[in-house]
Amino acid sequence: MEKGLVIKSTGSWYKVQKPNKEIIDCKIRGKIRLKGIRTTNPISVGDIVQFLMLEDGTGLITKIETRKNYIIRKATNLSKESHIIAANIDQAFIVLSLKHPTTPLEFVDRFLVTAEAYSIKAYIIFNKTDILSDEEKEDLQILRFIYKEAGYESYEISAKQGTNIDQIRNMLPGKISLFAGNSGVGKSTLLNSIQPGLELKTGDISDAHKTGKHTTTFSEMFELEKDTYIIDTPGIRGFGIIDLDKQELWHYFPEIFKESHKCQFNNCTHTHEPKCAVKQAVEEVRISETRYLSYLSILEDENEKHRLKF
Ligand code: GDP
Ligand code: ZN
Repeated sequence: MEKGLVIKSTGSWYKVQKPNKEIIDCKIRGKIRLKGIRTTNPISVGDIVQFLMLEDGTGLITKIETRKNYIIRKATNLSKESHIIAANIDQAFIVLSLKHPTTPLEFVDRFLVTAEAYSIKAYIIFNKTDILSDEEKEDLQILRFIYKEAGYESYEISAKQGTNIDQIRNMLPGKISLFAGNSGVGKSTLLNSIQPGLELKTGDISDAHKTGKHTTTFSEMFELEKDTYIIDTPGIRGFGIIDLDKQELWHYFPEIFKESHKCQFNNCTHTHEPKCAVKQAVEEVRISETRYLSYLSILEDENEKHRLKF
């Protein structure tokens, strides 16, 4: 029996890297099912699998090793099935830009909630700082402060001009790092600049998206050096948790969670209750209003009454 790391998945074939770096094209034997979740893909990048070598040089996956964690999203908006984006992630980076395009802060907060729910350390990368006006640069500092207070380190970079790329590069050795970002923020440009030779396609805010053409839905994993991998995920729309109890949402906003111990009721939802320490902290600007609004907005997600599906 051989063992390896899944670095690419195309739906029916998986590229599996052996410890000696050899890459084997593998298929799954019959149906490997995961307990409790219906997925369109039972195996994803980041999985460690066992496989049998066949005579034709391909492999047959027989077993998936227990995952440390995985990130999942709904396969399509209407589907009950989910899609595993990546497994065994050490840290996650969300790349965003304040303009061209603007990343809605709610996207960022949903991403961070997801990371919290899976206990994955998350970082924020503000890209395209080269095109910001002085006023916008001030906005950026305020945002960085807000996220710092919430417990998230952030970076300001210009992928295009190569500014501060080494700050990101230095975070990566020895880890599996996931990168996400809404289309056009410069994630591909950043990854190409982190690893010259990667040659990911970059483009203007993609015509493919405007015309609704299919873009890749599978994440891809790249080895930068020994034990150091990055995972490029396609977009963050609909990125998230499959199932989250509304009552627990505030656990995943670290600054709200911290403050909640002072609320009068221990099942306080921090919406309408009297003597809510969280609302008080928002009033006193100790908790940022944008974060609180994201909390409310996620909570009020119209689609689901009791459980949230991102
Ligand atoms: P992705 O969809 O996130 O992978 O974005 P791309 O890497 O394809 O970049 C989208 C567009 O933004 C391209 O035209 C890039 O040249 C441009 N871009 C990427 N990074 C920067 C940056 O730091 N500053 C500026 N001004 N443009 C950038
Ligand atoms: Zn409260």
